Amino acid sequence: MQRRKFLQLSSLSVASLSIKQNNLIPNTIKKPIVISTWDAGIAANKAAWQVLKNNGRALDAVEQGVMATENSINCCVGLGANPDREGIVTLDASIMDENYNCGSVAFLERIKHPISVARRVMEKTPHVMLVGSGAQQFAVAEGFTLEEQKLSTDAQKAYENWLKKSEYKPVINIERSESGHGPFAPAKLESGEWNHDTIGMLALDNKGNLSGSCTTSGQGFKMRGRVGDSPIIGAGLFVDNEVGAAVATGQGEDVIRIAGSHTVVELMRQGLSPEEACKKTIERVIKAKGIEKCKQIQVCFIALNKNGQVGAYALQKGFNYSVCYADDYNKLTNSKYIL
Ligand code: ASP
Repeated sequence: MQRRKFLQLSSLSVASLSIKQNNLIPNTIKKPIVISTWDAGIAANKAAWQVLKNNGRALDAVEQGVMATENSINCCVGLGANPDREGIVTLDASIMDENYNCGSVAFLERIKHPISVARRVMEKTPHVMLVGSGAQQFAVAEGFTLEEQKLSTDAQKAYENWLKKSEYKPVINIERSESGHGPFAPAKLESGEWNHDTIGMLALDNKGNLSGSCTTSGQGFKMRGRVGDSPIIGAGLFVDNEVGAAVATGQGEDVIRIAGSHTVVELMRQGLSPEEACKKTIERVIKAKGIEKCKQIQVCFIALNKNGQVGAYALQKGFNYSVCYADDYNKLTNSKYIL
């Protein structure tokens, strides 16, 4: 009895402490704010910022933000991206709002904006995820255009190059040195852009609500039917409006194994800053896979908490992310890393 009373009292004091802290928060919250993965995030943030600065909803911002990346021909997201090993581009995307509503699509072909199909899945069906021909059928029924199945010039070149050896060696986004890229890095595109396969975005709007999005073509030259972490809620993306949000990029299989984005958010719930939470989650990837095997891959997380604080961490050098919170503040930052 005594003990129960003590526990009740202590949880009460924790509650009142957090209420106290929450009372302080309005002065310190940085909002609206948007953060996204890689340098493609600069252009994506710009689109998202237009929504946020006009008092728009975080959900609209994260959809419109990554649509800008899906639109860009020379980017490895959307229909301009690298195909699977059969030469077909297949897309994965997910979106999550401030009320635990979420939607995703995977293994989707010939649709320009998978992120918007994911949003329709969230808003118009009782489901969270649609895949393959079913997702495509749904998209067409919702009025999305079925685009031609044709590789972009860059993707065609990269695919032809890959076909010379047809080596099945999934490799993701490691850029180890300032001067170039590591032995496992994918080819640089003719346009000069790096071959990043994913954009993930998190936003906090003026009302203090969080949302997140993620869209990708997955690994270049992947096995047909392979789906990564990006459309898996809790792995590639997770949003908890009480606490914060996280999104991943890199080797999807290793993000799925540890429910990466959910882990980041739960660590923030325990009081860690976004950066600390991302770091601890990367440490868990290392624990799960072993340090030697981790040298062959890249995994990265970005996170945003309810106060508008951002953070990121990667396994390896080379990851960067873009943060925007004003008309004149949209900057690329190099992420810290472990290996
Ligand atoms: N995470 C994505 C996947 O595994 C790829 C990436 O982030 O580049 O499909």
